Amino acid sequence: MSINPIEIAKDIINIGSTAGLKKDVVDLQAAKLRILTEQLSLLVTENTQLKLENLQLKTLAQNSQPFAGGFHDFEGVLWKRTPNGFGKTPYCPQCSDHPVMFGQPPMGGDPMLWQCSVCGFTADFSGRPR
Ligand SMILES: [Zn+2]
Repeated sequence: MSINPIEIAKDIINIGSTAGLKKDVVDLQAAKLRILTEQLSLLVTENTQLKLENLQLKTLAQNSQPFAGGFHDFEGVLWKRTPNGFGKTPYCPQCSDHPVMFGQPPMGGDPMLWQCSVCGFTADFSGRPR
């Protein structure tokens, strides 16, 4: 069973009309359901944005753990060595404390570019060090 709110709204209106409700009652139902589906749509959009923001904050929290050792400069951004190679996201070469950079767009596979959340410095994504 699908949980498409528009389909559910249509079903409710359909139930109202087949149950013999007067047209003005069904129209009123339709108007109220339209308000609900619009509100739901806004909330879904907001939820998607919040999930994205949460993902960014989790990445930031993970990558801001203190660490020792130098960075590896690769394609204009700094990379942190890990036991298996390098971390997933680079660090800003412009800021003196080298904060973590975000991929833009932030979800999916490889980003188009890296961006520093502090100074705004960007670098094109040019692969990852191996
Ligand atoms: Zn920076």
